[in-house]
Amino acid sequence: MKIAVFSAKRYDREFLDAANAGAGHQLRYFDAPLDLESVALAAGHDAVCIFVNDTADAAVIEALASGGTRLVALRCTGFNNVDMQAAARFGLKVVRVVTYSPYSVAEHAVALLQAINRKIHRAYNRTRDSNFSLDGLMGFDLHGKTVAVVGTGKIGRVFARIMLGFGCEVIGHDKYPAPEFEALGARYAEPGEIGARADIISLHCPLTPETHHIVNKVTLARTKRGALLINTSRGGLIDTEAAIEALKSGQLGGLAIDVYEQEADLFFRDLSSTVISDDIFQRLLSFPNVIVTGHQAFFTEEAISTICETTINSVTEFANGQPLSNEIS
Ligand code: NAD
Repeated sequence: MKIAVFSAKRYDREFLDAANAGAGHQLRYFDAPLDLESVALAAGHDAVCIFVNDTADAAVIEALASGGTRLVALRCTGFNNVDMQAAARFGLKVVRVVTYSPYSVAEHAVALLQAINRKIHRAYNRTRDSNFSLDGLMGFDLHGKTVAVVGTGKIGRVFARIMLGFGCEVIGHDKYPAPEFEALGARYAEPGEIGARADIISLHCPLTPETHHIVNKVTLARTKRGALLINTSRGGLIDTEAAIEALKSGQLGGLAIDVYEQEADLFFRDLSSTVISDDIFQRLLSFPNVIVTGHQAFFTEEAISTICETTINSVTEFANGQPLSNEIS
């Protein structure tokens, strides 16, 4: 199969080539993200392989279909960037990586939580400047605190287990509650209780029309004053302007995010010599109690290796006319 790989970074090439060694597909790498401008590059390829900020809306899907592409292989879990109805209409199959190291993302959420709580980002800068003052660096014990997990799927449950290990009380919210979450020693709670009691809220649900801006002016007003908010899921879960207002008023005690609603214009690139025109993002970066990482939660050797192997396997299944184990239907 001829595969056009979009948004291809050095590590994508390295791990996809390794996974493809025995499979023998023809991979062509493009630095550009998939969108209406770049879609012509996919002409003549049986499959496209795309990532979180590539665009596969109806217009792109139509162009892919007319260029002969029959498979969209997402090398990620979330598929909010693919118009599934358009894919069905134009007869394109869509596969994703349903499962890869949930530890990679859950452990990054813990890293963000402890960095924002214990002010590691500020301490790092201070000690490099020989400033060993502790003023402003006080955090709190996680032990005995209440942690809310929104979305108790694979990643949410690993995060919950780690938090239970810290001695936290873990409460959760999910549209489809799972007994495995309760079996860990956590329990489900109503949104009202989560708002009133949680010292820490960590988001692990997918971005859907229902969860878009699930954190907004109204829900932020109902959270416990000073709570910490962690988002390693998708940027669109948070209304960023409402979060900025909550940070300014002290309603939100800290925000640590790996994802940002407008990240497609920023992340996965070196923009250090560029003037960033996104004023909302720049305002976020100006807070001492905000940490942003650039969508790196998945970025461990174990996760990338599984992502690339699963993607190549999916293409092989498609080429052989086998049932697609990772099809989004
Ligand atoms: P999962 O499908 O195992 O779990 C998601 C959970 O969210 C499910 O239990 C589901 O029932 C629940 N959910 C769905 N709609 C909901 C709603 N309206 N309210 C509350 N809960 C709802 O997925 P996962 O593997 O745990 O991944 C979770 C999310 O993490 C993904 O959707 C993706 O957006 C994000 N993610 C981010 C990175 C990263 O690098 N930052 C990497 C992988 C995944």
